[in-house]
Amino acid sequence: MEGVYTKKLTCPVCKSEVYVARLKHGAYTVISRDSDLHPWVNGLNPIYYVGVICENCGYAALESHFEEISSEDVKKLLPLLAKKRLSGIRGVGEERTWEDALYMLSSIFEQYEVRNADPYNLGYVAQNIAWLYREARDEENEQIWLEKALQYYLKAYESSAQLPPTLGEAGLGYLIADLYSRLGNYREALQWASRVVQMPKNRKKVLFDQLSRELWQNLREKYKSSPEEERNWRTAVRTNIQKTLQNKGILTTTMDSLIRNLGLWAAGEILQDLQDLTKEDIEGVASFEWFDRLMEISKGHKIVGDEALTRLLSSGTEEPIIYLMPESWPEPPAIVLTDLPLSSGEKVLWQGYGFLKGRVRKLFIREV
Ligand SMILES: [Zn+2]
Repeated sequence: MEGVYTKKLTCPVCKSEVYVARLKHGAYTVISRDSDLHPWVNGLNPIYYVGVICENCGYAALESHFEEISSEDVKKLLPLLAKKRLSGIRGVGEERTWEDALYMLSSIFEQYEVRNADPYNLGYVAQNIAWLYREARDEENEQIWLEKALQYYLKAYESSAQLPPTLGEAGLGYLIADLYSRLGNYREALQWASRVVQMPKNRKKVLFDQLSRELWQNLREKYKSSPEEERNWRTAVRTNIQKTLQNKGILTTTMDSLIRNLGLWAAGEILQDLQDLTKEDIEGVASFEWFDRLMEISKGHKIVGDEALTRLLSSGTEEPIIYLMPESWPEPPAIVLTDLPLSSGEKVLWQGYGFLKGRVRKLFIREV
């Protein structure tokens, strides 16, 4: 069959020869991926080919682990395989249908459970079964198998199981967040997404960092759809912010003033903004340092610009005029409060982090 080649393996249970179908390079092209990385493809479906079953004894395993089984595990499997033999074993060849794939993956899952196999592999098989149901538009069964995948992935995470290097701890954390979200548990999903976002950068792949941030945003929209969920959302975000700040050694009093002054729990993005800041910078934000400096500098001056801000400051007559977050650069001489990065030759009167227009940003007060 085109796109497939076979490799001969020995069944570790009954020692008969097994011809394993493998996909050639280029047997399919990925058109798109779902948020849990499920691929929609042109060509042969790779999900159909992740497993192998021995036609003689019914032993089944993931292709990558087919020959790895201990003699104790063989003993555990024998009663189940004997039953299989009685009911007849379905041969699965090179050409595979959706039903073949389901039969194969269900057999692997059943045997892995009996063997008490690595929880990551059990989760992976369950997830592939869920994907088969997704492709058949059978939502009810998809949810059942997503739930199983989630439970095993949680176990894998807790037991620090060996993970594929392409996935790693961050990848697994992201999958857990996405599974929770698909199962409608947005609160847990949010916590797992933020756990990944908070992992040190050198411990995660850019892809999973990006995906977790996107998931975070989506969850925020979903979570806020009812007043009760809005409250839950705030509690969850607040808990996460507190954890982040505690890890940086921020005092409880600083934290309280941040939350009181800025209403931080109302804006999930703030957590991401604060993440990359130093302890000193966060303390600066909490104490409204930027606003105090602006008040000082603007005293007596004529103030132009951002309406909300101008209302908070008292405008005078002195020159130069102070421009607050102007959309275009003013004629010199002027003093400007801006979040635009510095260019050379301008005198900086103050710089630091401040909370403005719903986000924490780096601000500059500059003389031009
Ligand atoms: Zn066999």
